[in-house]
Amino acid sequence: MTNLAWRQVTLPVRMGGLGIREAAPHAVVAFYSAARAAEHIADKLTTLALTPDDLRLQQKFHPGLPSCTQTTDLMAAFDDAPVIRMQHRLSSSIEAHLKEQLMHDPDLSMEQRIRIRCCESKGCGMYLTLPPEVAQELWLDSSAFRLSVRLRLGLPIAAAPALCWRCNDTVADTLGIHSLACLRGTGRGHAHNAIRDALFVLTSRALLTPHRESMCFANSQQRMDLVLTSGFQGIAQLIDVALTSPLRPDVRKLAATEGPDAVATAYTEKKWREYGPLIIPNAQRFTPLVYDTFGGVSANSRQLLSTMATEYGKRTPEGIRFGRLQFFARLNRTVIGEVAKLVYRESG
Ligand SMILES: [Zn+2]
Repeated sequence: MTNLAWRQVTLPVRMGGLGIREAAPHAVVAFYSAARAAEHIADKLTTLALTPDDLRLQQKFHPGLPSCTQTTDLMAAFDDAPVIRMQHRLSSSIEAHLKEQLMHDPDLSMEQRIRIRCCESKGCGMYLTLPPEVAQELWLDSSAFRLSVRLRLGLPIAAAPALCWRCNDTVADTLGIHSLACLRGTGRGHAHNAIRDALFVLTSRALLTPHRESMCFANSQQRMDLVLTSGFQGIAQLIDVALTSPLRPDVRKLAATEGPDAVATAYTEKKWREYGPLIIPNAQRFTPLVYDTFGGVSANSRQLLSTMATEYGKRTPEGIRFGRLQFFARLNRTVIGEVAKLVYRESG
């Protein structure tokens, strides 16, 4: 594994990492928080207060840490703070600092920067953090899991570059960049249909009465991926699903500079151009649901997803909270699993 990939591994999942913390950068704040938490029960523990020398020693082991003064300032800022969750908050500050350093590392390529940014998207790393109470059927199988982690970290998924079997005119790189963006062949169609079908099952269970591939327009033979005919106050909720790659050459600049879901959100404009003029006002509402290949989703579809998840949760015996978790986990598993299949066909 490269040094850059390892540094990404040690970041929390919400910052694009794998949440496998390295002990060294957190040792001092763990000690400090523990000493603070014990202050009220043993006065003599206050003699264990940290000195700048302790911090210098720490930096020797881990040169990537914030400077000695910064760490001291960081802890000084927490001097009067309640001790509850102190270590968590201090460690978060350190992680944010390590993340900044990684993102500004001159050795980090633009593709790598885009990957990390996209992996920060809310919920896209659910497959890495599924709690044990969520059914085992939602876990990715081990080969899909390994591929997904490799894609997240920008590690090779193939032994050598090879001619793309889909378009037959581009040499596919070993990092999956071309494979995920190539529009030829049937792979993306499979992925699209799998996401649509997962949503069909979930919304059926939520009693939202979905119709698949519905010809729902008055003056057009165009089909809509999914039409939900109940649960929206008499208005038909139209959903068109898409999957896009933030590593496509034409969107890389947007992906590198904007928020994690920028490419998926921008792609919804294409869908609006296609279907917007066909929508019947006051009878239909249209929401493009665009996922990116890292599991992020278009910002303007989050409200609808949340509504569908709540309806699903209401019909879940274990309760709304559990049901919502299951809803999002199932969609995340589908997207991540299908993306792994796309590159697996390529690399296999
Ligand atoms: Zn290709």
